Amino acid sequence: MQIVLASENPHKLQEIQTMLPASSAGGTPFMYASMRSFLLTLPPETGTTLAENAQLKARYVARKTGLWAISDDTGLEVDFLRGAPGVYTARYGGEHGNAELNNQKLLRELQSVPMEKRTARFRTVACLALPDGTTHLFEGIVEGKIDTTYRGQNGFGYDPIFIVSEIEKTFAEMTADEKNAISHRARAFEKLAQWLKGN
Ligand code: IMP
Repeated sequence: MQIVLASENPHKLQEIQTMLPASSAGGTPFMYASMRSFLLTLPPETGTTLAENAQLKARYVARKTGLWAISDDTGLEVDFLRGAPGVYTARYGGEHGNAELNNQKLLRELQSVPMEKRTARFRTVACLALPDGTTHLFEGIVEGKIDTTYRGQNGFGYDPIFIVSEIEKTFAEMTADEKNAISHRARAFEKLAQWLKGN
């Protein structure tokens, strides 16, 4: 059975594929395909929550292909900023996906905020959509703090300024394997993987 990944990011496709099962417990094989092989591009993310955006992407691809589709949406929620940037995480600094601008803006907003008030979390909502529009949502969270400066060379996005509470390292100080064992995305996809295995 073919399942389409509703993402235009090839790096994400690779990562997600390693987190999902090759077959269900009953022996149905799962093959994961890129939405690019169906010549599809994603609709604008107009939702006001991560779940809405994840549903919007997966439903669109499931409807267009007639196949099951999987998407995800991630946000960084900073308590001092009452949950911002949240759904606007990718474009917080003003330019979609510009990590440098995003990180600089966040460090600026938290300037002179003491460490104990810099608590934050990454939240991922993964969505599986069926062609009839039915969706199943799976959430993964990792708790942490926003550092006062950059630490580490690995990863992407906010990784150099996000300290993971349970390890006291930033994501950028972890290897890819270390990060993938505990990340918000891994936790959401682990739940989705369990669901797929059972179906
Ligand atoms: P997306 O929903 O996966 O595209 O994530 C939205 C934005 O959140 C990205 O553009 C990144 O800025 C940020 N982000 C998502 N996952 C991570 C992560 O694992 N580390 C650091 N930043 C992330």
